[in-house]
Amino acid sequence: MNNKSKSEAERRARLLRMRADKLKDIKQRFEENQNRNFNSNFKPGGKDAKKTGNKTSKQSKNIKKQAENKKTDKNKVNLSVSTKKAEMLRHQRLLSQDVNTQATQHIIGIPVNKSRYNGYNGQQVTMAQIKQARQHRDAVRIIPIGGLGEFGIGKNMTAIEYQGEIVLIDMGTLFASEDYPGVNYMVPDSKWLDDNRDKVKAILFTHAHLDHIGACRHLLPYFGPLVPIYGTAFTIGMIKKQMSELPDVPDMNYQIINPLEHKEIKLSQHLSAEFVHMLHSIPGNTSIVIRTPNGPILLSGDWRFETNPMGIPADYDRLREIADKEGFALMLNESTNIDVPGTHPHSEYDVGDNIGKVMDNYATGRIIISCFSSQVKRIECVLREAAERGRKVAFAGFSMINNVEVALRAKSIKVPKDVIMKMEDIVKLPDDKVTIVCTGSQGEMNAVLNRMVTGAHRHIKVKATDTIVFCSSPIPGNEPKIMGTVDGLLREGAQVIQHNKTHLTNIGPLHLSGHAYYEDHVKFVTDLHPKNYMPYHGEFYMLEHNAEMAENVVGIPRDRILVADDGDIVELLPNQTIRKNGRIVVGNKLYDDADQQVNEAVVKDRIHISREGIFVVILTISKKTGRLIKTPDIVSRAFIYLDNSEELIGKIRHYLRAKTDHTVASDDDVKALKESVKEDVTHILYDATGHTPIVIPVINKV
Ligand SMILES: [Zn+2]
Ligand SMILES: [Zn+2]
Repeated sequence: MNNKSKSEAERRARLLRMRADKLKDIKQRFEENQNRNFNSNFKPGGKDAKKTGNKTSKQSKNIKKQAENKKTDKNKVNLSVSTKKAEMLRHQRLLSQDVNTQATQHIIGIPVNKSRYNGYNGQQVTMAQIKQARQHRDAVRIIPIGGLGEFGIGKNMTAIEYQGEIVLIDMGTLFASEDYPGVNYMVPDSKWLDDNRDKVKAILFTHAHLDHIGACRHLLPYFGPLVPIYGTAFTIGMIKKQMSELPDVPDMNYQIINPLEHKEIKLSQHLSAEFVHMLHSIPGNTSIVIRTPNGPILLSGDWRFETNPMGIPADYDRLREIADKEGFALMLNESTNIDVPGTHPHSEYDVGDNIGKVMDNYATGRIIISCFSSQVKRIECVLREAAERGRKVAFAGFSMINNVEVALRAKSIKVPKDVIMKMEDIVKLPDDKVTIVCTGSQGEMNAVLNRMVTGAHRHIKVKATDTIVFCSSPIPGNEPKIMGTVDGLLREGAQVIQHNKTHLTNIGPLHLSGHAYYEDHVKFVTDLHPKNYMPYHGEFYMLEHNAEMAENVVGIPRDRILVADDGDIVELLPNQTIRKNGRIVVGNKLYDDADQQVNEAVVKDRIHISREGIFVVILTISKKTGRLIKTPDIVSRAFIYLDNSEELIGKIRHYLRAKTDHTVASDDDVKALKESVKEDVTHILYDATGHTPIVIPVINKV
């Protein structure tokens, strides 16, 4: 007992001593920081200072050194800005690495691909190997120009070439993530295609989702009015709609296909195509079979398996028929939901029934349903359920109205009589008659749903008696935005019903994914028993898991499966084997929401500025004397707030005066001055704040 309390007392004493020792250090650092008077948003030693604990003593030494310098050189400009030069260079190097990774993640030179399905025995392909690649004269070349192994799903585009004849399938966009400040979407860019434009014999579209047709207005006009463009009525209707938004609507050779006719379309001397009706979350969806001298190639497009579909069932019979009679030499199969186990547990009819259930349970208020605008079958359900209950339906949102219009014209939607109303008229009806179908299920800032929440919408503001139904699941990455929208709706007192939250609302599934699940893929690929297999349409992990499924479950030999990247040249040889053989140059064109192209360098600057800010020093020099004639102007944006940083600004002004203490006459002098001002100011700023903003010296001669 005694011993124990004694040792306890010792321990406490030791702790107190330690604290006292530390306290001195803490106090000293506190005082030093007080003296610094720099913007406190930035930690001394840079933003990483706290993470790497072992740096701290070095930093406090640096700070001490600075403090000493300050005392001794009160009147002399302290130009010893290189106290942390190595650290600053490291900071700059890491920063530029970060910026590059963020801004160029989709630009692929030679992608890292050591997958065992990479076509090179799991070894990374080298530049030398790519250069050595010699094209096999009689090979059919399959070249993914976009859509494979990207960050996000989209930008789908595939070229198939045989002896100088090229067929293109799909031209999609990819929505840019927050990683690309100010960029809305990207479009496939291929120098190879530019060089081979004249060889393109036909352009085919599997369906009208933007990740398959979104790039039409940028790419189609380059192929001229002679190249035929094939697709189903709904798909061509959506492409025409998109093209009609161009200032000069180009003349195009559109060819509408009815996939149920099983017609073989001759595309060129050696290539022909057949469209096969498949189900997805949009009308007019197809797979495409390209017949080549080396055997038929199946491009699955997007598809889902349904046992109880609304409308015409998928034409698996035709695909099986081709598989059994001709045999698919190569199958390209989409990969979107390969990570989702099982098969679709419910049908679009169930979704319709549940929408009806919502209308019954919340019968007295307005029902606002948000879903993807291309889900025409879902919209058909809403119309039917509303008609049965004497409700009217209005559509809100540009893309929603566009899709319904095109669907009506392509006869892809059944509309009950006297149900559809205009938005401005429906709001005059009593609440229990009002149903609104709108965009915004992904929490998009500018979409109708958010505008209804904020009161920015022309006709409608969400109120407490409204019920909002999300007939959608979040596209990965959109979750926080959707939560923001849901929060906004709940704050207005409205009832929110989301898909997959049955435990909260007692209302079952409200959405059906447009893509097949794992077991569906197993069955599909097994049934069609292709000789060779290539996953497409997916992020890298999806492609890889799709390939594993084909080898391990379906039993396709590993050397007949390829996980390719955008730009890889895949050859289907006359003996019906496949190999990778070289690459073409592929990349992206970036566009902002005004549809203007954004240069990658601009994106990099934006990222740099968003992290470190921008710092401009303006020197005015007399033409006659070559001397500084007024106090340098300093502009800081997104870096430090000048009013709080007098000492630092004073130091920089001081430095600039000393720096311009001699005549700057020739252009070379001006250039040299600019360079050294840029470098030194960067150092001073880094020493003070741990950040390296973009420093822009401007020298005016007057
Ligand atoms: Zn799709
Ligand atoms: Zn797609």
